[in-house]
Amino acid sequence: MRFTSICSPLKDHDLAKITNYISNPYVEPVGSNRETGHHGLDFSYYHKDGVGDPIDGTLIQSMLDGRVAGLGFDRLPYGNMMVIETPFEILPAELATIYQMKAGQSLYLLYGHMLESPNLAIGDEVSCGTAIGQVGGSGFSGNPHLHLETRVGPTGIELPTMIFYETTATLEEQAAYVEWRTGSTWTKYTPMLLLTYVSETTGANQ
Ligand SMILES: [Zn+2]
Repeated sequence: MRFTSICSPLKDHDLAKITNYISNPYVEPVGSNRETGHHGLDFSYYHKDGVGDPIDGTLIQSMLDGRVAGLGFDRLPYGNMMVIETPFEILPAELATIYQMKAGQSLYLLYGHMLESPNLAIGDEVSCGTAIGQVGGSGFSGNPHLHLETRVGPTGIELPTMIFYETTATLEEQAAYVEWRTGSTWTKYTPMLLLTYVSETTGANQ
């Protein structure tokens, strides 16, 4: 695996203009152990540039080269989702610094509320631009949108299924969710760090 580029999370949408489609900003949670704030960025629109089709069904692309580290299958709250890990070693040094990463850590991107069940397996390698799903409204989602999170954690984690807000969720599935949201394994950051890095880097958009 080696770093190639940074790609738009939405096919046929210029990465340099992707911030136009942010419909819900990142909001830092209040307190250390609470389900508050908004841990990611939402992207949505009714009609791209005022015309054309709505966002649902738009192909979601991996923003970075990496490996599938987590999957979700139409359960609450993330719905159909995928987590992709990119290790420190292949990230541009400047980007790793922005995310305050060191050796032994990886950047994990979560893509939530996808239309259909993910068709990749844990451990599958993806490249920047690999289609990983379609925008949908599965899980806790009002209108169809892409929910994107960025977290830093130890390299090589295979995330258990994360389920919460469902009576049928097992204790393990609930614990995995609580750890992802509030546990010490993970440090959450706004994906705006990645988008700002893109905007300041020439030749990195695709
Ligand atoms: Zn969201």
